[in-house]
Amino acid sequence: MFDVNKIVRKHILSLKSYSSARDEYTGTEGVFLDANENPYGSAGGGDFHRYPDPYQRKIKHALVGHTPALGVEQIFIGNGSDEAIDLLFRAFCEPLEDNVLIMPPTYGMYQVSADINRVAIREVPLNKEFAIQTEKVLAAIDEHTRMIFVCSPNNPTGNTLSRESIETLLNNFDGLLVVDEAYIDFSPHQSWVHSLKHYPNLVVLQTLSKSWGLAGLRLGMAFASKEVIGIVNKIKPPYNINEATQQLALKALENREGMQAMVADILQNKSDLEKALLALPLVKSILPSDANFIMAKFEEPKKIYTYLTRKLVIVRDRSSVLNCEGYLRITVGSEEENKTLLKALKAYPEDGM
Ligand SMILES: *Cc1c(COP(=O)(O)O)cnc(C)c1O
Repeated sequence: MFDVNKIVRKHILSLKSYSSARDEYTGTEGVFLDANENPYGSAGGGDFHRYPDPYQRKIKHALVGHTPALGVEQIFIGNGSDEAIDLLFRAFCEPLEDNVLIMPPTYGMYQVSADINRVAIREVPLNKEFAIQTEKVLAAIDEHTRMIFVCSPNNPTGNTLSRESIETLLNNFDGLLVVDEAYIDFSPHQSWVHSLKHYPNLVVLQTLSKSWGLAGLRLGMAFASKEVIGIVNKIKPPYNINEATQQLALKALENREGMQAMVADILQNKSDLEKALLALPLVKSILPSDANFIMAKFEEPKKIYTYLTRKLVIVRDRSSVLNCEGYLRITVGSEEENKTLLKALKAYPEDGM
């Protein structure tokens, strides 16, 4: 049976967290002489002289408004999903003692965060079709495995991982199963957010960096039981989301139609780009993708990568990644950008390259 108190690090459980001025008085009315702020305003303009809401209530209410299955106390907002990943390590993994499991090829940040926090990584690769090897994962975990990371749709392969496999893991694992849904808005499949009520050990990560077009703002979300979120909130830096980000993120979240319209355009561009790429003799195959990028296979990926870079078309060389030999990862751009890419590929090999 999953029990959050059994997996949280002992000193975190007993930690007394920092109590900020905005924790101690939460009203909005009054003369605020409690936080050593500047009463006049902000040098350079803008209205940023007050500390931001440490719990980002407006953003959380906007998120809950769209997903009624979710409670405000089930949401953590981070400075990018990367902050959520790091805080999960710091809350639940004892350095040099605990371990986490990842399934390569996958997003690099899980490994980096584990390394920074000196937490051992266990790898059970996805199989050649990029599916979870459920039995092998279950065989690889032990009483010190605190988290399993599942990226779905997966970066860099673009596929959605099997619901059934993830359910099996959730039902047979006493640590946290983290599903990273950075690309969920591009996918035809349902988010795991709707399953939180069934699984106390499920954590879902989402971000405003991709579909919402706000990579520069840095805002990521973790959704989980209120017990798990309570622990992450306890150790977060008090004012981790700045006021400018909170205001702009709220404005974006109130315009979900705007996001959906961009996603529709990107999906159309993806389908056009897939067809055009497959028509090129240079492209051997592409992987089916539920995300906003395409994995395209080339005979000589490194040469193509270097050539494209010289043409100032920058893609990601994933050909050295496990089971991704030959592949370049191409983000779906605007119509114009995709045309530039295709034009460059059609001209290859130019001037003897
Ligand atoms: C892009 C991406 C993220 C986003 O991270 P942020 O810190 O929110 O920008 C998270 N997970 C995966 C798998 C990604 O590809």
